[in-house]
Amino acid sequence: MANEAKNFQDLIAHCKEYGFIFQSSELYDGLSAVYDYGQLGAQLKKNLRDAWWKSMTQLHENIVGIDAAIFMHPTVWKASGHVDSFSDPMIDNKDSKKRYRVDHLIEAFAESLNKEAADALITQMDNLLAADDFAGIKKLIEDNKITCTISKTCNWTDVRQFNLMFKTEFGAVASENPEDNMVYLRPETAQGIFVNFLNVQKTGRMKIPFGIAQTGKAFRNEIVARQFIFRMREFEQMEMQYFIRPGSQKQWYEFWKAERKTWLENMGIPTTKLRYHDHVKLAHYADAAVDIEYEFPFGWKELEGIHSRTDFDLSQHAKFSKKKIQYFDNDLNEAGKPYGNYTPFVIETSIGLDRLFLTIISQAYTEETWNKEDGTPDSRVVMRIPPKLAPTKLAILPLLKKDGLPEIARELMNDCKNDFMCFYEEKDAIGKRYRRMDAIGTPYCVTIDHQTKEDQTVTIRHRDTMQQERISITEVKKRVQEGIS
Ligand code: ATP
Repeated sequence: MANEAKNFQDLIAHCKEYGFIFQSSELYDGLSAVYDYGQLGAQLKKNLRDAWWKSMTQLHENIVGIDAAIFMHPTVWKASGHVDSFSDPMIDNKDSKKRYRVDHLIEAFAESLNKEAADALITQMDNLLAADDFAGIKKLIEDNKITCTISKTCNWTDVRQFNLMFKTEFGAVASENPEDNMVYLRPETAQGIFVNFLNVQKTGRMKIPFGIAQTGKAFRNEIVARQFIFRMREFEQMEMQYFIRPGSQKQWYEFWKAERKTWLENMGIPTTKLRYHDHVKLAHYADAAVDIEYEFPFGWKELEGIHSRTDFDLSQHAKFSKKKIQYFDNDLNEAGKPYGNYTPFVIETSIGLDRLFLTIISQAYTEETWNKEDGTPDSRVVMRIPPKLAPTKLAILPLLKKDGLPEIARELMNDCKNDFMCFYEEKDAIGKRYRRMDAIGTPYCVTIDHQTKEDQTVTIRHRDTMQQERISITEVKKRVQEGIS
């Protein structure tokens, strides 16, 4: 097994062992591509969501946040184009009956080629997909003798489209036509923002350019759902739609492209592990689109999308609802420009919270080995999660369960727990407790020992360097606050 793949399997096992992520309904053998976040995972996920929310809403005066419902009027998805075209081209292997997304099938095959051949194949595929040439895609698969991983045969069906939206019934009243009560589980959070554009603009007296941000669950019946929490059927998105004057989309597209990459770097992701990937085939609503990709343990993949969505969504909702959705631009009117009323254009930034989670933990997970002073080998697994994001900030550890040490530790805990997440533990040898804190990414451990009783000092241990220093117990809170801000 390649090193990265082994590390990735180790990371998945680590997430389970320490309570970050569990398979959903594991008791019943699990539900594929659905995951539950455990006690540490939920906290880390919340910290990531909070960091995004703060950067969008608190740090931008002209961006506000909303929380729209998951259920929406079914016509929303006709207007948005999802009913007609939220689908992926699929192909089935006739022998194994296994279904593949054609781009995934071809990309996986390309990984076995040298770089030049792989690039040529991917370019060919992109061009065929851009032209919706499904017969051409099938021929490409056959010409390259791409086989099914299970049956190992090249016996393929035609390429077909498969809609990814989940449907469910709404309300208790039975209808003769089941379609009457049918609603979709939203496949993206964006539409909840578009249909509330006028509500927010008017009640918030927002002036263009302005943004509306939202985080929340989205659902997609993904065909190929693999790679842990990278591709899930139920996941969380963090999206921001930025409403702008028509004609200014290039400028704002470039602005948000740069802004979002910088934000990811501020989350501790190295520049060298991030890159832009321009879309060749544009979605029906976009006039420009780029992915910010991260180098996951299984290769470069999309982490966030920046899309210039034109006025497509607002115009579609105006058309389908038969309501006027426009903005009156007072500034333009005053400047004597020919129009004051227009349908705003939109730049969207859209990141999956679970993918960001996977990025942060892939980046953080480190297996370290070294020789101790006496020459014997030692090792640890440490989650180098940036301190501001770590689920637990401070572990408070009395050296012994007696001699009044737990009482002092509890007092420190009471002093700190209102300000940041603390963890108290008095069981096991101190070295073992440190290792456990390393494994969950706790940036600081404080040990209370007998000397504390004499001079009110404690040992503070730093996760990344494992260095320890003696500081006054009254300084602990400030030190941690500085480290996590
Ligand atoms: P992909 O090409 O990987 O299917 P996409 O282009 O369909 O992604 P978008 O519709 O642009 O993705 O969604 C925005 C973001 O939502 C993505 O960048 C990704 O972070 C996240 N996302 C999309 N689908 C999933 C999924 N099935 N599981 C987890 N996150 C997802």
